[in-house]
Amino acid sequence: MTVQSATAEHQVTLIPGDGIGPEITRVVVRILEATGVKFRWEESLAGAEAYERYKEYIPKELYLSIDRNRVALKGPVTTPIGGGFTSINVTLRKYFELYANFRPIQNLPGLPTHYPGIDLLIIRENTEGEYVGIEHEVVPGVVESIKIITAKASTRIAEFAFAYARQHGRKKIHSIHKANIMKMSDGLFLRCARDVAKKYPDIVYGEHLVDNTCMQLVTNPYQYDMLLLENLYGDIISDLCAAFVGGLGLVPGANLGEDCAIFEAVHGSAPDIAGKNIANPTALLQSGVLMLHHIGETDAANRLHRAIEKVYESKQSLTRDVGGTAGTNEFGDAVIAALEN
Ligand code: ATP
Repeated sequence: MTVQSATAEHQVTLIPGDGIGPEITRVVVRILEATGVKFRWEESLAGAEAYERYKEYIPKELYLSIDRNRVALKGPVTTPIGGGFTSINVTLRKYFELYANFRPIQNLPGLPTHYPGIDLLIIRENTEGEYVGIEHEVVPGVVESIKIITAKASTRIAEFAFAYARQHGRKKIHSIHKANIMKMSDGLFLRCARDVAKKYPDIVYGEHLVDNTCMQLVTNPYQYDMLLLENLYGDIISDLCAAFVGGLGLVPGANLGEDCAIFEAVHGSAPDIAGKNIANPTALLQSGVLMLHHIGETDAANRLHRAIEKVYESKQSLTRDVGGTAGTNEFGDAVIAALEN
Protein backbone atom coordinates (compact mmCIF):
# COMPACT_ATOMS: atom_id res chain seq x y z
CA MET A 1 0.00 0.00 0.00
CA THR A 2 2.99 2.32 0.34
CA VAL A 3 2.90 5.06 -2.26
CA GLN A 4 5.28 7.62 -0.79
CA SER A 5 8.62 7.30 0.89
CA ALA A 6 9.30 8.66 4.37
CA THR A 7 9.94 12.39 4.26
CA ALA A 8 10.68 15.02 6.88
CA GLU A 9 7.11 16.26 7.06
CA HIS A 10 3.87 14.78 5.80
CA GLN A 11 1.10 17.10 4.72
CA VAL A 12 -2.21 15.42 5.47
CA THR A 13 -5.78 16.63 5.11
CA LEU A 14 -7.63 16.24 8.42
CA ILE A 15 -11.42 16.02 8.58
CA PRO A 16 -12.50 15.84 12.23
CA GLY A 17 -16.12 15.17 11.21
CA ASP A 18 -19.00 15.43 13.68
CA GLY A 19 -20.63 13.39 16.47
CA ILE A 20 -17.72 11.58 18.16
CA GLY A 21 -15.49 12.62 15.24
CA PRO A 22 -13.75 15.69 16.75
CA GLU A 23 -13.02 14.05 20.12
CA ILE A 24 -11.52 10.85 18.65
CA THR A 25 -9.66 12.77 15.94
CA ARG A 26 -8.05 15.08 18.52
CA VAL A 27 -6.73 12.11 20.49
CA VAL A 28 -5.56 10.27 17.39
CA VAL A 29 -3.64 13.32 16.12
CA ARG A 30 -1.98 13.65 19.53
CA ILE A 31 -0.92 9.99 19.43
CA LEU A 32 0.27 10.12 15.80
CA GLU A 33 2.44 13.11 16.68
CA ALA A 34 3.83 11.25 19.68
CA THR A 35 5.29 8.64 17.28
CA GLY A 36 7.82 11.31 16.26
CA VAL A 37 6.58 11.46 12.67
CA LYS A 38 6.21 15.07 11.54
CA PHE A 39 2.84 16.09 10.14
CA ARG A 40 1.40 19.27 8.75
CA TRP A 41 -2.35 18.94 9.12
CA GLU A 42 -4.73 20.81 6.84
CA GLU A 43 -8.00 20.77 8.75
CA SER A 44 -11.39 21.10 7.13
CA LEU A 45 -15.04 20.86 8.09
CA ALA A 46 -17.45 18.65 6.15
CA GLY A 47 -21.18 17.94 6.34
CA ALA A 48 -23.79 19.91 8.25
CA GLU A 49 -21.26 22.08 10.11
CA ALA A 50 -19.51 23.00 6.87
CA TYR A 51 -22.86 23.95 5.39
CA GLU A 52 -23.61 26.25 8.31
CA ARG A 53 -20.35 28.08 7.81
CA TYR A 54 -19.72 27.93 4.05
CA LYS A 55 -23.11 26.98 2.55
CA GLU A 56 -21.38 23.93 1.10
CA TYR A 57 -21.40 20.40 2.53
CA ILE A 58 -17.94 19.79 1.14
CA PRO A 59 -16.09 23.11 0.97
CA LYS A 60 -14.03 23.71 -2.16
CA GLU A 61 -10.95 24.03 0.02
CA LEU A 62 -11.43 20.45 1.19
CA TYR A 63 -11.46 19.13 -2.38
CA LEU A 64 -8.36 21.22 -3.13
CA SER A 65 -6.60 20.05 0.02
CA ILE A 66 -7.12 16.32 -0.72
CA ASP A 67 -6.19 16.96 -4.32
CA ARG A 68 -2.92 18.50 -3.18
CA ASN A 69 -2.01 16.10 -0.38
CA ARG A 70 -3.44 12.85 -1.83
CA VAL A 71 -3.86 11.56 1.71
CA ALA A 72 -6.47 12.34 4.35
CA LEU A 73 -7.41 11.19 7.84
CA LYS A 74 -11.12 11.48 8.35
CA GLY A 75 -13.41 11.28 11.36
CA PRO A 76 -17.01 10.16 10.83
CA VAL A 77 -19.48 12.62 9.30
CA THR A 78 -23.20 12.13 9.96
CA THR A 79 -25.34 11.20 6.98
CA PRO A 80 -28.97 12.21 7.43
CA ILE A 81 -31.42 9.27 7.31
CA GLY A 82 -34.29 9.20 4.81
CA GLY A 83 -33.55 12.61 3.26
CA GLY A 84 -31.15 15.53 3.49
CA PHE A 85 -27.80 15.84 1.83
CA THR A 86 -25.90 13.04 0.06
CA SER A 87 -23.38 11.13 2.16
CA ILE A 88 -20.09 13.03 2.42
CA ASN A 89 -18.21 9.75 2.69
CA VAL A 90 -19.73 8.38 -0.51
CA THR A 91 -19.22 11.69 -2.35
CA LEU A 92 -15.51 11.87 -1.47
CA ARG A 93 -14.92 8.22 -2.34
CA LYS A 94 -16.51 8.72 -5.74
CA TYR A 95 -14.90 12.10 -6.49
CA PHE A 96 -11.37 10.89 -5.76
CA GLU A 97 -12.03 7.44 -7.29
CA LEU A 98 -11.15 5.67 -4.06
CA TYR A 99 -12.50 2.46 -5.43
CA ALA A 100 -11.18 0.03 -2.84
CA ASN A 101 -12.44 0.02 0.71
CA PHE A 102 -9.97 -1.97 2.78
CA ARG A 103 -11.09 -3.23 6.19
CA PRO A 104 -8.91 -5.61 8.21
CA ILE A 105 -10.69 -7.48 11.00
CA GLN A 106 -8.24 -8.74 13.62
CA ASN A 107 -8.44 -9.38 17.35
CA LEU A 108 -6.56 -7.24 19.79
CA PRO A 109 -4.83 -9.09 22.63
CA GLY A 110 -6.54 -9.18 26.01
CA LEU A 111 -10.09 -8.62 24.79
CA PRO A 112 -12.51 -11.43 25.60
CA THR A 113 -14.10 -12.78 22.42
CA HIS A 114 -16.07 -15.77 21.19
CA TYR A 115 -13.84 -15.72 18.11
CA PRO A 116 -10.12 -15.69 18.97
CA GLY A 117 -7.53 -15.58 16.20
CA ILE A 118 -9.70 -13.82 13.64
CA ASP A 119 -7.82 -12.50 10.62
CA LEU A 120 -10.29 -11.47 7.96
CA LEU A 121 -9.85 -8.90 5.24
CA ILE A 122 -12.87 -7.17 3.73
CA ILE A 123 -12.46 -5.63 0.29
CA ARG A 124 -15.52 -3.56 -0.58
CA GLU A 125 -16.20 -1.93 -3.95
CA ASN A 126 -16.52 1.72 -3.06
CA THR A 127 -17.92 3.64 -6.02
CA GLU A 128 -21.12 2.05 -7.32
CA GLY A 129 -23.87 -0.48 -6.58
CA GLU A 130 -26.88 0.92 -4.70
CA TYR A 131 -24.64 3.78 -3.49
CA VAL A 132 -24.82 5.68 -6.78
CA GLY A 133 -27.83 7.32 -5.15
CA ILE A 134 -30.03 7.34 -8.25
CA GLU A 135 -33.54 7.27 -6.81
CA HIS A 136 -36.77 8.91 -7.83
CA GLU A 137 -40.47 8.77 -7.21
CA VAL A 138 -42.18 7.25 -10.24
CA VAL A 139 -45.67 8.07 -8.96
CA PRO A 140 -46.72 8.81 -5.38
CA GLY A 141 -46.11 5.67 -3.36
CA VAL A 142 -43.69 4.14 -5.88
CA VAL A 143 -39.95 4.80 -5.72
CA GLU A 144 -37.35 3.49 -8.10
CA SER A 145 -33.76 3.03 -6.91
CA ILE A 146 -31.10 2.11 -9.43
CA LYS A 147 -28.16 -0.16 -8.70
CA ILE A 148 -25.25 0.26 -11.09
CA ILE A 149 -22.70 -2.49 -11.56
CA THR A 150 -20.09 -2.05 -14.28
CA ALA A 151 -17.54 -4.49 -15.65
CA LYS A 152 -14.88 -1.79 -15.26
CA ALA A 153 -15.40 -1.23 -11.52
CA SER A 154 -16.02 -4.91 -10.77
CA THR A 155 -12.83 -5.98 -12.57
CA ARG A 156 -10.85 -3.17 -10.92
CA ILE A 157 -11.86 -4.19 -7.39
CA ALA A 158 -11.29 -7.88 -8.12
CA GLU A 159 -7.83 -7.05 -9.51
CA PHE A 160 -7.10 -5.07 -6.36
CA ALA A 161 -8.15 -7.97 -4.11
CA PHE A 162 -6.22 -10.66 -5.97
CA ALA A 163 -3.09 -8.54 -6.36
CA TYR A 164 -3.20 -7.71 -2.65
CA ALA A 165 -3.68 -11.38 -1.77
CA ARG A 166 -0.69 -12.48 -3.81
CA GLN A 167 1.52 -9.69 -2.53
CA HIS A 168 0.65 -10.32 1.11
CA GLY A 169 0.50 -14.09 1.14
CA ARG A 170 -3.26 -14.38 1.61
CA LYS A 171 -4.68 -17.69 0.46
CA LYS A 172 -8.36 -17.42 -0.32
CA ILE A 173 -10.92 -14.96 -1.70
CA HIS A 174 -14.70 -15.36 -1.58
CA SER A 175 -16.96 -13.17 -3.71
CA ILE A 176 -20.12 -12.43 -1.76
CA HIS A 177 -23.24 -11.92 -3.88
CA LYS A 178 -26.95 -12.35 -4.45
CA ALA A 179 -26.76 -13.39 -8.10
CA ASN A 180 -29.62 -15.87 -7.74
CA ILE A 181 -31.95 -12.86 -7.46
CA MET A 182 -29.92 -10.00 -9.01
CA LYS A 183 -28.93 -12.19 -11.90
CA MET A 184 -27.64 -9.43 -14.17
CA SER A 185 -25.92 -7.01 -11.78
CA ASP A 186 -24.45 -9.45 -9.27
CA GLY A 187 -24.01 -11.89 -12.14
CA LEU A 188 -21.72 -9.37 -13.86
CA PHE A 189 -19.79 -8.74 -10.63
CA LEU A 190 -19.19 -12.51 -10.32
CA ARG A 191 -18.17 -12.98 -13.95
CA CYS A 192 -15.57 -10.22 -13.61
CA ALA A 193 -14.24 -11.74 -10.37
CA ARG A 194 -14.05 -15.20 -11.99
CA ASP A 195 -12.11 -13.80 -14.96
CA VAL A 196 -9.60 -12.15 -12.65
CA ALA A 197 -9.41 -15.30 -10.47
CA LYS A 198 -8.26 -17.31 -13.50
CA LYS A 199 -5.07 -15.22 -13.56
CA TYR A 200 -4.35 -16.12 -9.93
CA PRO A 201 -4.36 -19.93 -9.70
CA ASP A 202 -2.32 -19.64 -6.50
CA ILE A 203 -5.29 -18.02 -4.71
CA VAL A 204 -8.28 -20.24 -3.88
CA TYR A 205 -11.47 -18.63 -5.19
CA GLY A 206 -14.99 -19.24 -3.86
CA GLU A 207 -18.46 -17.67 -4.04
CA HIS A 208 -21.14 -17.47 -1.36
CA LEU A 209 -24.57 -15.92 -1.27
CA VAL A 210 -24.65 -12.91 1.04
CA ASP A 211 -27.45 -14.25 3.25
CA ASN A 212 -25.70 -17.58 3.67
CA THR A 213 -22.45 -15.69 4.36
CA CYS A 214 -24.02 -14.04 7.43
CA MET A 215 -24.87 -17.46 8.83
CA GLN A 216 -21.52 -18.96 7.83
CA LEU A 217 -19.62 -16.06 9.40
CA VAL A 218 -21.35 -16.42 12.74
CA THR A 219 -20.98 -20.22 12.68
CA ASN A 220 -17.41 -20.48 11.42
CA PRO A 221 -15.65 -17.26 10.34
CA TYR A 222 -12.35 -19.13 10.10
CA GLN A 223 -13.38 -20.63 6.76
CA TYR A 224 -12.88 -17.18 5.20
CA ASP A 225 -9.67 -15.29 4.49
CA MET A 226 -10.60 -12.36 2.23
CA LEU A 227 -14.13 -11.27 1.33
CA LEU A 228 -14.75 -9.41 -1.94
CA LEU A 229 -18.04 -7.52 -1.91
CA GLU A 230 -20.14 -4.96 -3.71
CA ASN A 231 -20.68 -1.67 -1.92
CA LEU A 232 -23.86 -2.38 0.09
CA TYR A 233 -22.99 -5.95 1.07
CA GLY A 234 -19.55 -4.70 2.14
CA ASP A 235 -21.09 -2.07 4.40
CA ILE A 236 -23.38 -4.55 6.13
CA ILE A 237 -20.91 -7.43 6.46
CA SER A 238 -18.26 -5.04 7.88
CA ASP A 239 -20.45 -4.21 10.88
CA LEU A 240 -21.17 -7.91 11.42
CA CYS A 241 -17.45 -8.75 11.32
CA ALA A 242 -16.65 -5.88 13.71
CA ALA A 243 -18.55 -7.82 16.37
CA PHE A 244 -16.01 -10.69 16.14
CA VAL A 245 -13.22 -8.49 17.46
CA GLY A 246 -15.02 -6.35 20.03
CA GLY A 247 -17.27 -3.97 18.11
CA LEU A 248 -17.34 -0.90 15.94
CA GLY A 249 -14.90 1.02 18.11
CA LEU A 250 -12.06 -1.17 16.90
CA VAL A 251 -12.16 -1.68 13.14
CA PRO A 252 -10.11 0.58 10.87
CA GLY A 253 -10.58 1.31 7.21
CA ALA A 254 -8.84 2.78 4.20
CA ASN A 255 -10.39 4.12 1.01
CA LEU A 256 -7.78 3.57 -1.65
CA GLY A 257 -7.43 4.81 -5.22
CA GLU A 258 -4.56 4.79 -7.65
CA ASP A 259 -2.68 7.64 -5.99
CA CYS A 260 -4.98 8.97 -3.28
CA ALA A 261 -6.25 7.59 0.02
CA ILE A 262 -8.62 8.54 2.81
CA PHE A 263 -8.25 6.71 6.11
CA GLU A 264 -11.33 6.41 8.32
CA ALA A 265 -12.91 4.09 10.87
CA VAL A 266 -15.66 1.67 9.84
CA HIS A 267 -18.03 3.18 12.39
CA GLY A 268 -20.23 6.23 11.96
CA SER A 269 -20.57 9.37 14.05
CA ALA A 270 -22.30 7.59 16.98
CA PRO A 271 -24.29 10.69 18.08
CA ASP A 272 -25.62 8.78 21.09
CA ILE A 273 -22.21 8.94 22.79
CA ALA A 274 -20.84 12.18 21.31
CA GLY A 275 -19.25 14.81 23.54
CA LYS A 276 -19.02 12.51 26.57
CA ASN A 277 -15.36 11.50 26.33
CA ILE A 278 -16.39 7.83 26.21
CA ALA A 279 -15.92 6.97 22.53
CA ASN A 280 -13.23 4.48 21.66
CA PRO A 281 -10.67 6.09 19.33
CA THR A 282 -9.01 2.73 18.49
CA ALA A 283 -10.69 2.29 15.08
CA LEU A 284 -9.52 5.71 13.89
CA LEU A 285 -6.14 5.15 15.51
CA GLN A 286 -5.74 1.83 13.68
CA SER A 287 -6.73 3.70 10.51
CA GLY A 288 -3.83 6.00 11.42
CA VAL A 289 -1.56 2.93 11.55
CA LEU A 290 -2.70 2.05 8.01
CA MET A 291 -1.97 5.65 7.01
CA LEU A 292 1.55 5.50 8.49
CA HIS A 293 2.24 2.39 6.39
CA HIS A 294 0.82 4.15 3.34
CA ILE A 295 3.08 7.19 3.72
CA GLY A 296 6.14 5.03 4.19
CA GLU A 297 6.49 5.41 7.97
CA THR A 298 6.66 1.68 8.58
CA ASP A 299 8.69 1.84 11.77
CA ALA A 300 6.28 4.30 13.39
CA ALA A 301 3.33 2.19 12.19
CA ASN A 302 4.77 -0.93 13.81
CA ARG A 303 5.65 0.89 17.03
CA LEU A 304 2.17 2.39 17.27
CA HIS A 305 0.48 -0.94 16.56
CA ARG A 306 2.58 -2.55 19.29
CA ALA A 307 1.71 0.28 21.73
CA ILE A 308 -2.01 -0.24 21.08
CA GLU A 309 -1.58 -3.98 21.68
CA LYS A 310 0.28 -3.29 24.94
CA VAL A 311 -2.56 -1.13 26.25
CA TYR A 312 -5.11 -3.83 25.40
CA GLU A 313 -2.91 -6.58 26.88
CA SER A 314 -2.65 -4.60 30.13
CA LYS A 315 -6.47 -4.36 30.27
CA GLN A 316 -5.91 -0.90 31.82
CA SER A 317 -7.21 2.40 30.44
CA LEU A 318 -9.71 0.77 28.08
CA THR A 319 -12.93 2.50 27.08
CA ARG A 320 -16.39 1.32 28.11
CA ASP A 321 -17.37 -0.36 24.84
CA VAL A 322 -14.62 -2.92 25.47
CA GLY A 323 -15.29 -3.38 29.17
CA GLY A 324 -13.10 -0.62 30.65
CA THR A 325 -13.90 2.58 32.50
CA ALA A 326 -11.43 4.99 30.90
CA GLY A 327 -12.36 8.00 28.82
CA THR A 328 -11.26 8.69 25.24
CA ASN A 329 -8.44 10.95 26.43
CA GLU A 330 -7.16 8.57 29.12
CA PHE A 331 -6.94 5.80 26.55
CA GLY A 332 -4.92 8.18 24.38
CA ASP A 333 -2.57 8.97 27.29
CA ALA A 334 -2.04 5.23 27.87
CA VAL A 335 -1.12 4.62 24.22
CA ILE A 336 1.34 7.52 24.31
CA ALA A 337 2.88 6.13 27.51
CA ALA A 338 3.16 2.69 25.88
CA LEU A 339 4.84 4.29 22.84
CA GLU A 340 7.47 5.81 25.09
CA ASN A 341 8.27 2.58 26.99
P1 ATP B 1 -22.98 4.68 9.66
O1 ATP B 1 -24.06 3.93 8.97
O2 ATP B 1 -23.10 6.16 9.67
O3 ATP B 1 -21.60 4.19 9.29
P2 ATP B 1 -23.01 2.92 11.91
O4 ATP B 1 -24.08 2.00 11.54
O5 ATP B 1 -21.62 2.39 11.78
O6 ATP B 1 -23.13 4.33 11.20
P3 ATP B 1 -22.47 4.23 14.35
O7 ATP B 1 -22.83 5.67 14.28
O8 ATP B 1 -21.05 3.93 14.22
O9 ATP B 1 -23.33 3.38 13.39
O10 ATP B 1 -22.94 3.72 15.73
C1 ATP B 1 -23.46 2.44 16.06
C2 ATP B 1 -23.30 2.25 17.58
O11 ATP B 1 -22.00 1.74 17.84
C3 ATP B 1 -23.37 3.58 18.30
O12 ATP B 1 -24.65 3.74 18.82
C4 ATP B 1 -22.33 3.51 19.38
O13 ATP B 1 -22.92 3.19 20.60
C5 ATP B 1 -21.40 2.40 18.94
N1 ATP B 1 -20.11 2.96 18.49
C6 ATP B 1 -19.77 3.34 17.24
N2 ATP B 1 -18.53 3.81 17.20
C7 ATP B 1 -18.06 3.73 18.47
C8 ATP B 1 -16.82 4.08 19.09
N3 ATP B 1 -15.80 4.61 18.40
N4 ATP B 1 -16.70 3.89 20.41
C9 ATP B 1 -17.69 3.36 21.13
N5 ATP B 1 -18.88 3.01 20.61
C10 ATP B 1 -19.06 3.19 19.28
